Parts: sequence; C-alpha cells; structure tokens
Amino acid sequence: MENTMSLAMQSLRNRYPVLVETAIEDAFKNRGFLTWNQGIEMWAIDRPVASCTHCTSFCRKHCYTRKAYTQYHHIMPVSDIKNEYRWSMMTGDKIAAEIAGRNQRARVRAVSRVRFCTKGEPFSEIKDIELVKDIAVKNPEVLFWIPTRAWRHQQFRVKIEDTLLDIGNLRIMASLDPSNTRTEAQSLKESGWSTMFFGIDDVEEAESNFKIKFAKCPKTHEGRHGSCQTCGLCFVKKQINVHLRQH
Ligand code: SF4
Ligand code: SF4
Repeated sequence: MENTMSLAMQSLRNRYPVLVETAIEDAFKNRGFLTWNQGIEMWAIDRPVASCTHCTSFCRKHCYTRKAYTQYHHIMPVSDIKNEYRWSMMTGDKIAAEIAGRNQRARVRAVSRVRFCTKGEPFSEIKDIELVKDIAVKNPEVLFWIPTRAWRHQQFRVKIEDTLLDIGNLRIMASLDPSNTRTEAQSLKESGWSTMFFGIDDVEEAESNFKIKFAKCPKTHEGRHGSCQTCGLCFVKKQINVHLRQH
C-alpha cells in the first residue's frame, strides 16, 4: 500500500469504495508502469482526470479524455484506480528496471520517449515534482515529454522552474488554452517555458492573442498519424511553442 494516499486516490476511493481493493490487487497483473499508447504511438504513464488539480474551465469542458470517459464509462473507474495506484508505487529505479527489461526484449517498441501523461496531471501535488526528477535522473537516455497546467499555481511553477527545467531529458511544456491570457503566455516565455496551445484553430489568431510564434503540430494540422514518435517539435531542447489544431 502507498505511503501517503494522493488526493486523486482519495477522491476515487470516496467515489468507488467497492472497486478499490480488487483494482489495486490487479494493478500490476500482466503489466508494468508503462503502457503503449496507440494514438501517439509512444510509451506513456497515465493518471486519472481526478489528478487534474490545475485544470482550467476551458480544458475541463473540452478535455480530450471526455470521449474515453463516455465511451468506456463502465471500465474507467477501475482503470483510474489502477493508474493512480501504479503512480503511487513509482520510483526512478523501478522505471529504469522496467525500461531495461523492455528494451532487452522488444526492439520494435524500444523505450526512448515516454509521455507523462496522456490523461491526468503529472504534477497533481507538489511531491510529484521530486518524483519526476528522480525518474528523469535515473533514466538519462530516455526523453520524457510532460505537458502540464501546474504552471498556473505559483508554488508549483517556482518548484518546477528550480527543480526540473534544466534537466536535459525532460521536455516540459506549459499547456495553454483560450482561458489563459497574453500576460501569462509572455511570463512563461520569459521564464524559459515551452508551451503547447489548443483551443483556437487559426494559428495567426492564436499568435496575435498571445504575442508568441507557434510551430504547427504536424499530427493535428496535417493528420500525420504516429508522428509524435519521430516528430522533433515537442522534443527539441530549445524553447518552443506548439500549436495543436482540433482533429
Ligand atoms: S488538465 Fe488535461 S486531462 Fe486534465 S481536465 Fe484539463 S485537458 Fe483534461
Ligand atoms: S508537435 Fe509533434 S510531438 Fe508534438 S504533438 Fe504534434 S506530432 Fe506530436
């Protein structure tokens, strides 16, 4: 059992008390921490939307996970509990051991890039920042891609800037949407953050709203399936602003 229960797990326990025990027992049955995400063709580590402690009114309403929560509503609570339990058990050493095992066995899906998180918020609580640091430091050969809205809370923003922005294998991107302001976008730019914007499909309009230059995501603008694995944009070391279109 985890040492300190996360806020997300507390919420799931309150909502689905009868599911918790069995879901936790099965959390590592036939799988580890990483999961292959077919949509982006990349390894990922996920959390439940219950972990989204920094979401905006816009992102809640237009959250890209809504479809999954509607379509798979009968299995999502169990899947969420398992994901959050696995999250609570993670350490840099355990992730390193799993990646080493996968890379020995499967050359086709070698782990070179990992996405935190295709759903949920990696920096749900302040302690998650040290956890991600531990994972990055113990897995220097792997690039970790981390879109986050944690920048919206000052305590998180400062700690991420101090602890993570200079780690060479982390690609942290501040998620922006139309509920955010030009002042926020400019302030992120000045502090060295890369950003990822979704919510206004017209790139020029978004650029003029935020006064920043965007690079167009080839997956959403040109429909290039699976391009996250080979695309340079979200994985470049330099500061970058990526524009995603609805697709
Ligand atoms: S932070 Fe991301 S996963 Fe969470 S509600 Fe917003 S868009 Fe959805
Ligand atoms: S810019 Fe590239 S890596 Fe980023 S989401 Fe689009 S295809 Fe994926």
